[in-house]
Amino acid sequence: MCGIVGYIGKNNKALEVLISGLQQLEYRGYDSAGIAYIDNEKLNIIRSKGKIANLEKIINFDDKSNIGIGHTRWATHGEPSELNAHPHKCGKITIVHNGIIENYEELKNELLKYGYEFKSDTDTEVACALLDFLYNQENDILSAIKIFKEKVQGAYAINLICDDDFDCIYAIKKNSPLIIGVGENENFVASDVPAILNYTNKYIQLDDGEFAKITSDSIILYNKNNELVKKDIKEFHEKAEDMEKGNYDYYMEKEIHEQPEVIRKMTNEYIGSDMPDISNYKKIVIVACGSAMHAGLIGKNLIEEYSNIPVEVDIASEFRYGKLFIDKDTLVIAISQSGETADTLEAVKIAKSKGCDTLGIVNAYGSSIAREVSNVCYTKAGREIAVATTKAYSAQVTLLSFLAYNVAKTSKNKEDLCKISSFLSDLNKLPIIMDSILDNSLYKEIANILYDKNHIFFIGRGIDYALCMEGSLKLKEISYIHSEAYPAGELKHGTISLIDNGTPVIGIVTDEKIASKTISNLKEVKARGANAICIATDNINLGEDFYDKKIIIPKVNPMLEPIITILPLQKIAFEVAKLKDCPIDQPKNLAKSVTVE
Ligand code: GLU
Repeated sequence: MCGIVGYIGKNNKALEVLISGLQQLEYRGYDSAGIAYIDNEKLNIIRSKGKIANLEKIINFDDKSNIGIGHTRWATHGEPSELNAHPHKCGKITIVHNGIIENYEELKNELLKYGYEFKSDTDTEVACALLDFLYNQENDILSAIKIFKEKVQGAYAINLICDDDFDCIYAIKKNSPLIIGVGENENFVASDVPAILNYTNKYIQLDDGEFAKITSDSIILYNKNNELVKKDIKEFHEKAEDMEKGNYDYYMEKEIHEQPEVIRKMTNEYIGSDMPDISNYKKIVIVACGSAMHAGLIGKNLIEEYSNIPVEVDIASEFRYGKLFIDKDTLVIAISQSGETADTLEAVKIAKSKGCDTLGIVNAYGSSIAREVSNVCYTKAGREIAVATTKAYSAQVTLLSFLAYNVAKTSKNKEDLCKISSFLSDLNKLPIIMDSILDNSLYKEIANILYDKNHIFFIGRGIDYALCMEGSLKLKEISYIHSEAYPAGELKHGTISLIDNGTPVIGIVTDEKIASKTISNLKEVKARGANAICIATDNINLGEDFYDKKIIIPKVNPMLEPIITILPLQKIAFEVAKLKDCPIDQPKNLAKSVTVE
């Protein structure tokens, strides 16, 4: 979480770069923000609670500065407030930090003995004080950083200014993303390339344990063993315009409507070309968090059904601390949009230590997970800016369906081959079908039923249940309505007591084999006063017309069906949030890439 931007140059544009960079990174965290910059040999720190817009209001843009660091925060330690906002300054050291210093209490107790006082509740201020303490001891900032790395546990991407040398900034990275942007007579530090894309597309990726001393015309890099190192300068190929809203009012809306194009792109990229062969593994374990985990659940259904390999889906933060039954015959698939999800990244490292092959399904090029796994498949969804994922999720589902299809098509079993016979022709039709599903006025009508409710239920079986989980999460994330996804058959084992007059229950019915069961469950809740909304495929006989609303979508090959069934759920969540006037692209308490555990 959180966004870091640093600048050092010669044209007095530090303030402009910091603010425009922070705006680009705001999706990563937005509870408070701040900058530190040098003007006339004086360090100024400006911080404010809330979004970057609040910070902008209190900055004097007439100040001329060539060096500065900035931060947009997603609080982990201490409430979102001006006092806890970064940058933090202790003695001669000023830092912005992304991550969590796990042993900060222990370090704080030590530093208190040396007379350090703390104004904030953050772990970051402790890191800052430690760096100052070590700097005073060593009289050399690079030596201080080396010792800091030994003493500190946890995750940190840090951008640092030292009072004794205003001609350089420092960057330190472990377990949180950080890059150095390379310009002409100016250099940058950022959590992610888009922050600096208005100025340069050249960057150096820092790896864990690495740090750098950066001036306007030099970048001196040290590896994890503190040795001088040279690293490749990479180029980022997306353009700044790709990150605009285009004709839409919200990024989420734009990204929902980009999905047909994403599927087209993925089809061109992957169908007919080599994909990783998953057929030789005895077991597959999918590790992921949030929507990526929901995509994993669809993957489990598809791979088990069409490729006959047992698949387990683990929430990455649980996988890390559970007893693991994995070995060299297990493939561990890590799914993450950002490729920086802290728990998923750690899960990959654990899987590797157990001798497993690892496959990453990742959207962000060159991200930490993409670099850590033994094999990576990129989802090609393009940059996703709305915090609630839509196109990256459907791209993950698509990739999993391609992996399953690749095994299924080599099957010797006639029945298996029959199941996939319509896969390619339906895949080619998918973008057009998706466009037509997205264009439906019923979503607004359904939003009108839902927007003032306190609780909503989603029910389904099998893959439909996995889709319910994602539909429910989307609604929670952006509309703040409590909702739950339930396996349709499970509701009556307790939770049905919550169904009252007018409680909305959204049922998903796309699998003919078990359709009648879910339909019966919808009837059960309807009999208890629920408002029954049904999303079903056109081959299902829904029986008598007792639904309050129903959305019918085309039946396509079952391996592809989830890619289109999710669309009504995304659109409903979006319309509800719009009706409630919620900040759709940046919901409260959330951040786009979860780089803390
Ligand atoms: N742990 C730090 C804090 O709570 C940094 C959080 C972040 O990454 O934004 O301030």
